[in-house]
Amino acid sequence: GEFTVGADVLVIGGGPGGYVAAIRAAQLGKSVTLIEKNDLGGVCLNRGCIPSKAIISMADFVHRMKTMETAGIRVNGITVEMERLQQWKQGVVQKLTQGVASLCKGNQITVVQGEASFVSANEVRVVTEHGSERYRFESCIIATGSYPVELSGIPFDGQRVISSTEALSLKKIPQQLLVVGGGYIGLELGTAYRKLGSEVTVLEGTGQILPGTDPGLVRYVTRNLKKLGVEVQTNALATSLQINGEKVDVTVRVKDETKVFSADQVLVTVGRKPYTGGLELADSGIETNEQGFIKVDRQQRTTNPKVFAIGDVTGNPMLAHKASYEGKVAAEVIAGLPSEMDAVVIPSVIFTDPEIASVGWTEEQAKQEGYETLTGRFPFGANGRALSMEGGDGFVQVIAEKQTKRVLGVHIVGPEASNLIAEATLAIEMCATLEDLSLTVHAHPTLPETIMEAAEAAVGHAIHIL
Ligand code: FAD
Repeated sequence: GEFTVGADVLVIGGGPGGYVAAIRAAQLGKSVTLIEKNDLGGVCLNRGCIPSKAIISMADFVHRMKTMETAGIRVNGITVEMERLQQWKQGVVQKLTQGVASLCKGNQITVVQGEASFVSANEVRVVTEHGSERYRFESCIIATGSYPVELSGIPFDGQRVISSTEALSLKKIPQQLLVVGGGYIGLELGTAYRKLGSEVTVLEGTGQILPGTDPGLVRYVTRNLKKLGVEVQTNALATSLQINGEKVDVTVRVKDETKVFSADQVLVTVGRKPYTGGLELADSGIETNEQGFIKVDRQQRTTNPKVFAIGDVTGNPMLAHKASYEGKVAAEVIAGLPSEMDAVVIPSVIFTDPEIASVGWTEEQAKQEGYETLTGRFPFGANGRALSMEGGDGFVQVIAEKQTKRVLGVHIVGPEASNLIAEATLAIEMCATLEDLSLTVHAHPTLPETIMEAAEAAVGHAIHIL
């Protein structure tokens, strides 16, 4: 039979939103139960950020070995054993997920493997291997994340037509890979497989890959994709598919034409949807918006005052660090602290080649918000460290308010953009001015010198450009 357990805080979903919320609530003295139906760590650790970066790093390593002849490096006969690469990647994932498990244990969090659904405003049912249990909670945090959108004409079969989940676990490098959807996930994985040896074609429905990202940044990625031999087709809508022996033929509308693209595998990366299926939100008074995301206020509270929601299930930006930040906010609010979602900016990173990282407003957005702006730009081609690592492609752009010189946005395309954006994010969070960036002594020779020089350039006195 079903028995009822009590919990101060019940967290549903063990991704970077849920496990962080659980730990923070436990730190604040709450008794916490964390329900996860799959694996601790969620999408991020098991089939998102971490495995993708592991594969991208190794693909890049292979690519660099093959392309450093100008520096006198000639490597003959590189072999990629995909099964070993996958085992290694899984080892990275395991270290991290086991780390999460021991953090939960050390914080006295009860982790339950099972699927949760609401039965009333303050109760959930959890179906586990052994049957079902009811949990009555004081507070609940929903952190169930998101899942890949399927195209009705090109349904997933897990073998030939795959999502990012399967693409991260391929045991064999496909000879031809067709990527449907030129957003960041499709381009990151498409680039990695190209570097591992696949022939890659990317189809993007709109007029630009990475829609929504500043074209001035995207240009560098487009150019390098071409150099890498990735075929990119924009304004291309994949409509249906046909299995043709060993190959898959995908029919695509390109403007007014119909074309057929053939490949061994088709990777569909056309977006992600909130994962609320089976939660029975309506039974507990939790409302969603038109797109199905759970509605929350600045304290992450849903329309049910006992229930909070965080991470991908609450909407964009669907990023791990946003999920974790919201998780801390929800846990602190539950513990009675005056927290709210008060991040000034949330950085976003695209792990293409070169990387793109952005924080705050673009020049255009700042103008739309009614600001007069100063903009400074510094090319990696004038930075010693970048050149000495063969990474001279790209630039740093700093946008500031003209009058106060307060930094409003920083946009980077180039080597290590993902790591460089941290300084810019802190600057904006702390209301730094151009002088704060330019008068901070930066170690030489390092990539962050480009941020200092872009800030100098904004007021017309960068040393290393005219
Ligand atoms: P999730 O990580 O999705 O976790 C939700 C968990 O809830 C899952 O484990 C699920 O099993 C569980 N669950 C769902 N329903 C129930 C239920 N009813 N009962 C119990 N458990 C349930 N973000 C970045 O910031 N940087 C990156 O580089 C990056 N790369 C990515 C690459 C790929 C290929 C993908 C797919 C995503 C990437 N993301 C990246 C996005 C990132 O993974 C998500 O933003 C993040 O995982 C969201 O965290 P979350 O806690 O909201 O949900």
